[in-house]
Amino acid sequence: MVQLIPSPDVVLQMLKRTGAFREGHFVYPNGKHSPHYFQMPLAFRYYDTARVLAVALSRKFRVEKDIASQLTKVSIISPSSGGIPVAFGVRDALNAEQIYWAEQEHGERMFRQYVNQGEVNPCIIVDDIIRSGQAIDETAALVKKLGANVIGCGAIVRFTSAPDEMEGVPVKSLVEFDAHMYDTGDACTDCIKDVPVEHVRF
Ligand SMILES: [Zn+2]
Repeated sequence: MVQLIPSPDVVLQMLKRTGAFREGHFVYPNGKHSPHYFQMPLAFRYYDTARVLAVALSRKFRVEKDIASQLTKVSIISPSSGGIPVAFGVRDALNAEQIYWAEQEHGERMFRQYVNQGEVNPCIIVDDIIRSGQAIDETAALVKKLGANVIGCGAIVRFTSAPDEMEGVPVKSLVEFDAHMYDTGDACTDCIKDVPVEHVRF
């Protein structure tokens, strides 16, 4: 029997097992160094893992009275392509009526569905990982411009450096991760120990 909300340790083990979370010595395209690397779509390529993670996240939304009382007239919204499998999984678990996802177009975030004012239900914004919170922020602004409210927000993993509240709602996650990032190699503990680097993409 799978627990509906697995512990943060169990979730991290799932991410490790699927290759979505790795430990080592990584350099990102922006030049930052880190001993951790998340590539969340690697976890979502396994349907069973995707389902367990999305159902667990959905449980955190369902306990909120403001969300439970508005179901099923709710929209699940992903800020980018990485959050789409999370959005579909959460939608399924909550039986929410609508799904939207945003894309970057000419440097601006906009809905792929090109919707009009008034068409969007009250929103739960979900992503696979929240690193800075900027994508969620931009999506929340988009939602408000279309006349809808943000009633929930969350991700499988949230870096503790990102906000834990958005538009007055708490940001839900299965793992709160204290990410270590070094601006340059000079400050990086692995560089000091001469550990070989691996260059990775976001
Ligand atoms: Zn380094």
